[in-house]
Amino acid sequence: MKDPVTKPKYAKLPEQPETKVIYGEAVTKPPITSDADIMWLNTAEASACSAEEVAGRLRVDPRLGLSWQEATYRRQLAGYNEFSVKEDEPPWKKYLEQFQNPLILLLLASALVSVCMRQFDDAISITVAIVIVVTVAFVQEYRSEQSLAELTKLVPPQAHCIREGSPDSFMARELVPGDVVRLSVGDRVPADLRLFEAVDLCIDESSFTGETEPADKNVAPVSNPNGTHTEYTNIAFMGTLVRCGFGKGVVINTGVNSEFGSVFKMMLEEEAPKTPLQKSMDSLGTQLSMISFAIIGMIMLIGWLQGKQLLEMFTIGVSLAVAAIPEGLPIVVTVTLALGVMRMAKRNAIVKKLPTVETLGCVNVICSDKTGTITKNEMTAADVRTSELYQADITGTGYNDIGEVILRKFDSADKTRESIYQVFEAGVVCNNARLQDGELKGQPTEGALLCAAMKHGMFNPGDRYIRLQEYPFSSEHKIMAVKCIQKYDKSKQEIFFVKGAVERVLAKCTKYSQNGVAQPMTQNRVQEYMQDASSSAREGLRVVAMARGDSLQDLMYLGCVGIRDPPRATVQDNILTLLQSGVQVKMVTGDSRDTAVSIAHQVSIEANPSQVVSGEQLDAFGEAELDAAVQHATVFYRVSPKNKLTIVKSLQRTGHIVGMTGDGVNDGVALKKADIGIAMGQNGTDVCKEAADMILTDDDFGTIIAAIEEGKSIFYNIRNFVRFQLSTSIAALSLIALATLMSIPNPLNAMQILWINIIMDGPPAQSLGVEPVENDVVRQKPRNTKEPMITRKLVGNVFLSASIIIAGTLWVFQKEMSSAGITARDTTMTFTCFVFFDMWNALSCRSQTKSVFTIGLFSNRMFLGAVTLSVVGQLLVVYFPPLQRIFQTEALTMWDMIFLTTLTSSVWVISEIKKLIERVMEQRGKQGKRSPLEYV
Ligand code: ADP
Ligand code: MG
Repeated sequence: MKDPVTKPKYAKLPEQPETKVIYGEAVTKPPITSDADIMWLNTAEASACSAEEVAGRLRVDPRLGLSWQEATYRRQLAGYNEFSVKEDEPPWKKYLEQFQNPLILLLLASALVSVCMRQFDDAISITVAIVIVVTVAFVQEYRSEQSLAELTKLVPPQAHCIREGSPDSFMARELVPGDVVRLSVGDRVPADLRLFEAVDLCIDESSFTGETEPADKNVAPVSNPNGTHTEYTNIAFMGTLVRCGFGKGVVINTGVNSEFGSVFKMMLEEEAPKTPLQKSMDSLGTQLSMISFAIIGMIMLIGWLQGKQLLEMFTIGVSLAVAAIPEGLPIVVTVTLALGVMRMAKRNAIVKKLPTVETLGCVNVICSDKTGTITKNEMTAADVRTSELYQADITGTGYNDIGEVILRKFDSADKTRESIYQVFEAGVVCNNARLQDGELKGQPTEGALLCAAMKHGMFNPGDRYIRLQEYPFSSEHKIMAVKCIQKYDKSKQEIFFVKGAVERVLAKCTKYSQNGVAQPMTQNRVQEYMQDASSSAREGLRVVAMARGDSLQDLMYLGCVGIRDPPRATVQDNILTLLQSGVQVKMVTGDSRDTAVSIAHQVSIEANPSQVVSGEQLDAFGEAELDAAVQHATVFYRVSPKNKLTIVKSLQRTGHIVGMTGDGVNDGVALKKADIGIAMGQNGTDVCKEAADMILTDDDFGTIIAAIEEGKSIFYNIRNFVRFQLSTSIAALSLIALATLMSIPNPLNAMQILWINIIMDGPPAQSLGVEPVENDVVRQKPRNTKEPMITRKLVGNVFLSASIIIAGTLWVFQKEMSSAGITARDTTMTFTCFVFFDMWNALSCRSQTKSVFTIGLFSNRMFLGAVTLSVVGQLLVVYFPPLQRIFQTEALTMWDMIFLTTLTSSVWVISEIKKLIERVMEQRGKQGKRSPLEYV
């Protein structure tokens, strides 16, 4: 605990006890209105009235906001501040829509023909099979839509509001007309507002008006507005973005009643763009359909010429079309992507659009902010150096007053403490953070300064001043200032307090403080202060310098505070993993060179002098020089948002796929430009979340890795089930085609083919899409963007498995058939053989390179479930009499089953052997040995 005796109490308690006073008036609970009291306004009315009148008509005191109770009441009147997306069609309608598929209609037609020909058994069989197929497809599509709908709910927009006199942040959908909303830089306007306070307020309305220049806003009533939106200078429209300044306004309309509600609704209903993968799957689907149709046409023709029954050939042809055409493929791809996005969300990465998932696996450079992403953003002041060159250490951690200021270099303790007081005073007055119930509200850097002052025994030193104006901190200027007058000072003498990056502050100082007395600044002194600051910075501290004075150009230097922001615990491992996998990591920061380099070393980022580049250098380089420097650099310091864009563009010119993080308003452009723009969820502005492709809800660097890992593994999973579906489809098609060419009876009947289709498009395929992330997936190289999904290796594997399946199945069929004519037993054997082959094939499709035993037999529960389901289904079809009738099957003996299981496992065994050989070869290739093939 701190010792109160050793600490001087500089500031006096304010004269009156602090009560909750807003603009000099005590808070009383806002009144409850009744429906009749509120007079709703439209935009034109609100714009023409004075702000007071608007507030009056909406029955709200702009200083207090609504009461919570009142807000609930109003929400019942006005509804939630949201747009309901498309009305949901009832499920039964969607179910019926499934029957509109032309192939299904053809099958139904063939059932009808069977009825006409009095083949009732056939008709019933085919109908039941169709119903099963349609039901499975429906369930799948329904689930896919469900998971896509979930995606839109991932980033609920927030609003900063005043209710019952205190500021609060909550979901924007809770806003009601009459609410008082605060806007600050980077916010998205959460509803239509009539502004009653606007300080330098500029709003980007480009999304609606098309104006690229932000619109200046003020609070004066607009007389006779003629209805163009640009004219409403006192209205902030929902969905627009605050570019600079701040303001307050009363909500006039929400949700669909807002001015741009209709525009929004249109935007929401816009279909999500397809990912490159989805597109290539679509075209693959079309190609396969064409080929299948051609083959099926031939099968039907030849079969008919051979004198087979026309109706049978037709039914088989159409069911083959249903089976061979992977109509499930696009759906499974979408579901896999969507489920992947949900998994990422659980790991704190919110991906806004599906295509991002794919790009993630291709990223080969990550440019990450230092502050808050690589570091914890838990800042504590660690040392203070005054303009007299006194020094003190500050102990303690966290946002509290526990800790001490221990003098280290000083003449007289009292004088030194007084000088430190001066530094902290400037740091606290020029500050927007506050501590509320032990929690920090505001920027961590500023919070650290508040706590340092508290540890120095200072109590609300800010209360002695009245703030007249603020010059806010920006990443460009790296300096913040406030203009104040002292509270009880009759002369109303203006004082400026300034804090910011050392060189920026020193540039404005003409004097320095020697125990409170101003001395003219000398070149020598500047050198000494810079050295002072860099010795703090070399310990990885972030240095903020303080000054005060009568004018902004004529300041007196007071000293600087070094703030500790330790790296996150796991960042070093994460960075090493990334580097191993061939992803470069570049650190980007507004901090000084020494701070940046020190932190870089702490997290294993190599930072030789040649690899450290400043924002100024980036501005000065020519293009060729720039590209070389940016490619080589690992640390960028004193960077402005504009520099970030330069970095992204340069890296993209040199062929990199760039992930770039950002949090500020001005980072938006760089994030948009980057292949993956990554916004900070906690400390990021709405603007930058808007521009980003992905949002990290915990701001943690490690989350980027988690996302990359998921992204890569989703791609591999999709490749796996594509392999599975293709091999089944090709096997089924070729089987019937061969049988027809060899002019033997059809080995499978229509219903059996439809059943195979369910297995192929259904649960087993989907379960391959949720294969858990392999533990070494992050360490694999980023994928080349140009690498197609269907590689030659994949095609090779597909044909290998397909040929084994075809050969095995035909052999079984031939063997069974040899006993007089074709019986139900024969087709049952063939059918079961094919299905079992497919199950084993699915097992080997779980990984392209690894043995099933390495990835774990039980590691994908959904796969186990799906295979069990399929096998049980198969057993029912074979042994359950009603289903036997439909699928025209017969019970098999136990020996039959054992025989089939053993035989069909060959497809898996061969694939395992192939993988083993490939692994050995790769291993040898790595060790530089000759491959075994060279000996042959
Ligand atoms: P980063 O990219 O690491 O977040 P910033 O642009 O936020 O860097 O900060 C750059 C420098 O600006 C810091 O080293 C510090 O000196 C100064 N600085 C940071 N925050 C503030 C602030 N709130 N007020 C004044 N100066 C600040
Ligand atoms: Mg910052």
